[in-house]
Amino acid sequence: MQKYDFIIAGSGLAGLSLAYYMNQTILREKSILIIDQDTKTKNDRTWCFWEKGNQNPFDQIVHRKWQKVYFHGTNYSDTLDLGEYSYKWLKGIDFYNFVRTDLATNPNIKFVNERIERLIDTPAGGFIITTENQYLGEYVFDSIKPLRLDLDDCHNMLQHFKGWEIVTDKPVFDPACPTMMDYRVEQQGVGVRFMYILPESPTRAMIEFTVFSDSLLSPTDYDVELHRYIRDFLKIENFSIEHEEFGVIPMTDEPTPQHIGEHVIRIGTAGGYVKASTGYAFQRTQRFTQELVRNLVTVGKPLHEPKKFRQRFKELLDSTMLNVLLKNRASGKDIFTALYKKNPTPRLFAFLDEDTTFREDLRIMATVPLGAFTLGLLDALRKRI
Ligand SMILES: Cc1cc2nc3c(=O)[nH]c(=O)nc-3n(C[C@H](O)[C@H](O)[C@H](O)COP(=O)(O)OP(=O)(O)OC[C@H]3O[C@@H](n4cnc5c(N)ncnc54)[C@H](O)[C@@H]3O)c2cc1C
Repeated sequence: MQKYDFIIAGSGLAGLSLAYYMNQTILREKSILIIDQDTKTKNDRTWCFWEKGNQNPFDQIVHRKWQKVYFHGTNYSDTLDLGEYSYKWLKGIDFYNFVRTDLATNPNIKFVNERIERLIDTPAGGFIITTENQYLGEYVFDSIKPLRLDLDDCHNMLQHFKGWEIVTDKPVFDPACPTMMDYRVEQQGVGVRFMYILPESPTRAMIEFTVFSDSLLSPTDYDVELHRYIRDFLKIENFSIEHEEFGVIPMTDEPTPQHIGEHVIRIGTAGGYVKASTGYAFQRTQRFTQELVRNLVTVGKPLHEPKKFRQRFKELLDSTMLNVLLKNRASGKDIFTALYKKNPTPRLFAFLDEDTTFREDLRIMATVPLGAFTLGLLDALRKRI
């Protein structure tokens, strides 16, 4: 059996972010093993996130960034100024290559391309069995454990989307302004549906049909909606599809304990890094993995800090939003329109980053349909109790 100081299970966003931050500190002298069943050589996802200035180290590989976004909701459409924030687009493949290049300078870091069959906490360490080997780590960071998404008394939604990167024969896109949400698509069933556009040039853009709901659509439904939107709203007759992306992100308040044993720590989606009400995880992953590394460097342990009241309150607001959408207490399209129409976008971004005060939270909550959210809040509280 091979022994390591740290083993990182999964070399996706959380695993590689953690390894990257470790490699910038004294932890680079530890033996680190990174295991993934995939070689991560494809551009398997598009990450977008908002940020004030350039706080994270991946700014040099950001593909596009914007200072304004377009929003189209119920009887309202506007170009929204992002103030101090930029909205950024990072390609998955650029992130994987950038981090792997950084880690390759360190002989203490080893990658293996194997499938993990078992991962358990034992008194001797975190123990992993793969298709080919067995490993023991002082700490194992687990980003591969799938969420259950079927627990009673939890709100379980899925954010599912299909995107086409298209090229047109005539200029149609404004490369300076992505579309954050366009609600002109037909709203059906539970949840909410919208289009999202990331323009690269006047003739090239990624267009994504996004749904927040309790179940996936059939594969052709996504294509039908994309075709309809491109033809009826963007008025594009001729285009070619250069790249496709399909994704499912859990939007759930399922409990995601991070320390499940003395030696095993869950990170990434498995550790609750995805914001339940939005599905965004990129910036939270940076924040949480930096915190883990800081704790390891300063006290030698990836300390688990008990949740503060403020954090529990933010989680309750996430659950309330999921409750309102899942129970169709108000139209999702109207809720998001109200949020973007009645609040400056920088305030909304700060709220979604959980950087707002209690007073600011209340100001934002006062802009959504009050009856629906009061019922949602009470139901979410009841489920927690
Ligand atoms: C298509 C897509 C687009 C997204 N876009 C955004 C966005 O724009 N902004 C945002 O903030 N968030 C976005 N997200 C959400 C979130 O940021 C990503 O899902 C992110 O990749 C989650 O990081 P992770 O490390 O938890 O999981 P992953 O990045 O999926 O990494 C998990 C890794 O574990 C490996 N693995 C799994 N099982 C095993 C096993 N048994 N053995 C070995 N290896 C295994 C996988 O191969 C994978 O590499 C998106 C998600 C998807 C799916």
